[in-house]
Amino acid sequence: MARLRTTSLAGKDIPCHWPLGSTYSLGEERNAMTTQIPYTPPTFWSDGFNCPFCHAFAKQEWGNVNKIIANSNYGKDADLVICRCSRCEKFSVWVNRKMVAPAAVIAPPPNADIADETKVDYEEARTISCQSPRGAAALLRLCIQKLCKQLGETGDNINDDVASLVRKGLPPKVQKALDVVRVVGNNAVHPGQIDLNDTPEVANKLFGLVNIIADVMISQPKQINEIYETVLPEAQKKAIARRDSAQLAAPPNAGSAGAPPASVS
Ligand SMILES: [Zn+2]
Repeated sequence: MARLRTTSLAGKDIPCHWPLGSTYSLGEERNAMTTQIPYTPPTFWSDGFNCPFCHAFAKQEWGNVNKIIANSNYGKDADLVICRCSRCEKFSVWVNRKMVAPAAVIAPPPNADIADETKVDYEEARTISCQSPRGAAALLRLCIQKLCKQLGETGDNINDDVASLVRKGLPPKVQKALDVVRVVGNNAVHPGQIDLNDTPEVANKLFGLVNIIADVMISQPKQINEIYETVLPEAQKKAIARRDSAQLAAPPNAGSAGAPPASVS
């Protein structure tokens, strides 16, 4: 029986300060609202993972293959294994404990809200990540360059774009994630202290970071805005707008001596 994991939202209001200010913790945010789909990469003889064909988290069934040539059966090969997805019923092929077909893609799929142009680079990085962790890291650096552009920056220089986003209130943990992908990606192009071919797991972690960045910066604000627009009555939205414009107009440190705030319960 296939098991499907789906995106879920906790049923409570989440304060969203982006882009006006940065006060939230990425960890707290992710506990409260998770828009990323959980991803379990294919691993040898595991009874469940995200299928490389249908992408669902599904039960997997394993078996050795009989080597049959003409009328001769040469028996089972311990190093040649096939795995059947119980959901889409397609078979992956594993040799020496590594998936060889379909193309060994173990990195998670991209966040759905990433722009199509960026998804192309992300998918190419997934396809090559097992063979070339360096190439994947360089492509993921390109992805965050394009993500910065999607967030309203120039996309010309990631370092400058991150600095600009920080000035606008970028959450510190997202800044760290951006800087990790930027620095490791630079290292892939100009080899330095990190040898990605010796540590392919580092490159694999970058995929998760790119998705976290997109989740916090694009998906969560989008979902909050959709809930805000569809759930709140128009009168309440107007009262909130009056409250916020009154706060912006108030002098600094006005304190309790200032005008009373608009009534928003
Ligand atoms: Zn499947």
